[in-house]
Amino acid sequence: MNDLKTHLAPYWPGLQEEEMEALCHFSSLLEEANQHISLTAIRDPQESAVKHFWDSLAFHQALALQGGESVLDLGSGPGFPGMVLAIMNPGTSFTLVDSVGKKTAFLQETAKALGLKNVSVCQGRAEGLGQDPRYRGAFDVAVARSVAWLPTLSEYLLPFLRVQGLMAVSKEAPWEEEASASKSAIDLLGGAFLKAIPYELPLYGNQRSFLFYRKVKETPEAYPRREGVPLKRPLS
Ligand code: SAH
Repeated sequence: MNDLKTHLAPYWPGLQEEEMEALCHFSSLLEEANQHISLTAIRDPQESAVKHFWDSLAFHQALALQGGESVLDLGSGPGFPGMVLAIMNPGTSFTLVDSVGKKTAFLQETAKALGLKNVSVCQGRAEGLGQDPRYRGAFDVAVARSVAWLPTLSEYLLPFLRVQGLMAVSKEAPWEEEASASKSAIDLLGGAFLKAIPYELPLYGNQRSFLFYRKVKETPEAYPRREGVPLKRPLS
């Protein structure tokens, strides 16, 4: 049985019935698929409700999209936060990217099963897509959760944004050190720190923060560097 609703409802009393239904549908598709292919290590229903769904809803709240934006979720995995954001923002278009085919296949099937017209799915790596003119500079907002250390992640995300676009990532505390160690890398890539929104996961107590950066100038053409380099030799 999928009891996402039981776990989520107390925290999100404002969720519309259709939104809750879609989230529950997504959760049961994930639970079912995860029995055959490994999409997430989190299998406990309460843990999934909090660490995947509650957390992605918090991301939604922090982003406060207006509608009409184009949003990239890089390294979406089984769809966090991207699929939840797409459910909550039907007037915004989402591109969910992951390098692993079984994950993008799941994302594709899920978007279809949920009837989400605002989702496109793309299998590929940030390093290649960030140099592809169809994707580079094409997004208003780029998000990621649990993908990489901030200097690497910024090299993945900032090239995708148009100037004035927004990069939003969620990070485990302590994030201050990671943010200050990334300052010159982010500056080089054209980003500028905007704000941090700290929060705490219910029940589990993890301290996390949403970090927001504005793209203030074009990313130099050399970035992202070729596959594997941003991870192996992060900018400093
Ligand atoms: N955002 C999801 C998944 C995090 S796991 C969540 O929070 O649950 C990190 C995901 O990023 C994995 O699915 C991995 O395949 C993907 N990934 C890592 N490096 C990548 C890259 N360079 N380009 C595209 N996807 C990448």
